[in-house]
Amino acid sequence: MKEQLQRRLIPTYFNEFQCIGGACEDTCCAGWRIDIDQKTFKKYKKESNLNIKKELQKNIKRNRSADVNEFNYGQFKMDDNNACTMLTKDGLCSIQNILGAEALCHTCTVYPREIATINNIFEKTLTLSCPEAARIILNRPEGLDFIEEEGIEHIPSLTNFTQSIEENELFWKVRIFMIDTLQNRKHSLETRLLIIAMFLQKYIELKSLNAQTIEPLVQKYNTYLKMDDLQSLFKNIHIQYDKQLQFSLSILNYKSSKEFNDLTTVIKNNLKLNDNNFLNESIEEFKLALSKNYIPFISKYAFILENYLVNAVFEKIKQANPQHIIDGFTSICVDFAMLRIFISGYLSNSESLLEDAIYIIQKYNKSLSHNSSYKSIISNILQQNHASILSQITMMIRI
Ligand code: SF4
Repeated sequence: MKEQLQRRLIPTYFNEFQCIGGACEDTCCAGWRIDIDQKTFKKYKKESNLNIKKELQKNIKRNRSADVNEFNYGQFKMDDNNACTMLTKDGLCSIQNILGAEALCHTCTVYPREIATINNIFEKTLTLSCPEAARIILNRPEGLDFIEEEGIEHIPSLTNFTQSIEENELFWKVRIFMIDTLQNRKHSLETRLLIIAMFLQKYIELKSLNAQTIEPLVQKYNTYLKMDDLQSLFKNIHIQYDKQLQFSLSILNYKSSKEFNDLTTVIKNNLKLNDNNFLNESIEEFKLALSKNYIPFISKYAFILENYLVNAVFEKIKQANPQHIIDGFTSICVDFAMLRIFISGYLSNSESLLEDAIYIIQKYNKSLSHNSSYKSIISNILQQNHASILSQITMMIRI
């Protein structure tokens, strides 16, 4: 049967990625639960190759949880260091070595790629939890761009969004506005985020939402973006360092891999944050760290956090639905504010600012993307009504 060409939209970095395997400092098979899809699990159970048969039998197990489905039907067992038991001593995957890449389960085949479709167009990104992907995505001084192409997709998308033609048109206007604003280097990253927050506040207040009603709003905000002193719009908003630090504590206290725990210990010590509380002294330390560490970093490497934000909007904003956009944008802003605290608290005296910042972002992503404390911080913010969500965003972002 002739294979069908599919339309796809990908960031240009996507095709540059190649797994560095044994040279990787942080294999994807460490620190996570690795799900095995049902079809592959059954194949592993019946594997006849004597070089791997016993190991496979020993190192996989059924998922007995209530939320089991065809994609998390089984799991690999983890060793005492929380690494996959199918890894060789050199950190290579023994399944791939012996049976070939085609024998990998869906999770291992796709990682670190993320695939979704919107109205049957494939959108593919890389996840920042992979260190090699993080370097490719973030270390692009020229910023991210995207290409549309046609090709044959061999791996199905597990996340599919469908919306009407009108909704899709509206969605694209909002998403393009968000990405263009994030890439507008005339303004600080904080100002770009605050302008998007203001725009989204107006977006959710529109009585009738369609491509025509959104157009004047986009034009109005594009006119704002031409102003030189746009940050003066926000100068009367009270800066809430205490709330920002308070939010950060539930993340800084989260226990994950040794590298993440070491990272958060350094940050808490530098900012004089103790495990459950912070002192007024912490606020002063944070202000000092912002001016001594964050501002010099951002004046040289703002593109790293810009690329982070653009990638996050491409990955998380997939529909025109106002609730979906607000939820996605709020979590992006919380991440940005937390990363700013991590960078401020960690980069003191660093001679390798760029590498250290990428390290922080990768570790943050790997440890928190499935973390319940992190999710509860976001849902605390999301429980507010829409109006206060945007004031919460402002509270998190303004420094
Ligand atoms: S984390 Fe990324 S580079 Fe490292 S082994 Fe996994 S896919 Fe390869």
